[in-house]
Amino acid sequence: MTDPNCIFCKIAAGDIPCTKVFESVDALAFMDIGPLAEGHVLLIPKQHYATIDEMPAEGAALLMGHIPALVRAVQAVTGCEGVNVLQNNGKAAHQEVPHVHVHIIPRTPGDAFGFTWPAGSYPEGRAGELATAIARELR
Ligand code: AMP
Ligand code: ZN
Repeated sequence: MTDPNCIFCKIAAGDIPCTKVFESVDALAFMDIGPLAEGHVLLIPKQHYATIDEMPAEGAALLMGHIPALVRAVQAVTGCEGVNVLQNNGKAAHQEVPHVHVHIIPRTPGDAFGFTWPAGSYPEGRAGELATAIARELR
């Protein structure tokens, strides 16, 4: 399953070059062309899914299965103190390339990358209502 107009499908097929880090039958990892830090790696499934909610659980599990080793390798090579493992899902979440990809972004204290993290709080009972509704939707 590929999309002929998708840049990451073309990279997975070898039709557009990338700086490859890792390849398996199901996934490819390569250097992000616009790194937020040295060692910023992208991991993609070879099959085309625009967003993670479109993926079968098995495909998502296979993809995420590659993350621990990649994180260890990025940390070892860059000497970073941590990484953000980030999957922007949907335009509103800053997803620019509509083919699922997981960012591994090396972090060091005081670096330029940051989130606005406007943590709020729930009025009494609201978290429970939402949890119940989400749990029902999972069935
Ligand atoms: P996102 O905003 O989560 O969709 O991130 C898309 C990422 O893909 C950005 O970090 C881009 O720098 C990266 N990117 C786009 N085109 C390429 C490419 N041809 N090779 C490597 N990385 C790319
Ligand atoms: Zn694609």
